[in-house]
Amino acid sequence: SRDFRVVVLGSAGVGKSALVQRWVRGNFREAYLPTIEDTYRQVLGCSHKVGALHITDTTGGRRYRGLQRLAIARGHAFILVYSVTKKQTLDELKPFYELIRQLKGDNPQKYPIVLVGNKCDESRREVTEKEGAARASEWNCAFLETSAKMNINVHELFHLLLNHEKKPAPQA
Ligand code: GDP
Ligand code: MG
Repeated sequence: SRDFRVVVLGSAGVGKSALVQRWVRGNFREAYLPTIEDTYRQVLGCSHKVGALHITDTTGGRRYRGLQRLAIARGHAFILVYSVTKKQTLDELKPFYELIRQLKGDNPQKYPIVLVGNKCDESRREVTEKEGAARASEWNCAFLETSAKMNINVHELFHLLLNHEKKPAPQA
């Protein structure tokens, strides 16, 4: 099949569910609803082949490392989310990044990762755009700042991953 699985990872409260909600449903809510794991499925029509897009919205907690590991093992593309209002959430992405590399190998062409600094609408920041971009280049991955609340760069984020998928595979 042509199924394509996107996995969203990051600490609790950074806005993973809000980003997915914004993209899938087009809305935003202020209330915080802790997630264990949600999967969204959307049928993708791409030329003659039709496959499904699966988005796995994971939980940030350490208690769920097993679920996170399984989601990464099955994933094709990864969104690593931190909040620009909390520096700690950027640092907490490192184990996720390392696990992706460990399970999927070192080929960023094959398994794209996007580093996302969410809540860019907030004026009280602990992480500048420059710091986020520096981490992304260190990790050799794409970078975007987003706001699920104000609908900034959310479509760009998912299109980045989906357009990547549609490109022909590089010749070996
Ligand atoms: P998750 O634990 O990573 O899934 O985080 P949620 O999506 O549940 O969001 C956690 C909290 O942050 C909620 O209260 C959201 O309303 C808020 N939030 C999420 N995205 C944004 C954003 O882009 N800007 C602002 N200001 N708040 C956000
Ligand atoms: Mg959530």
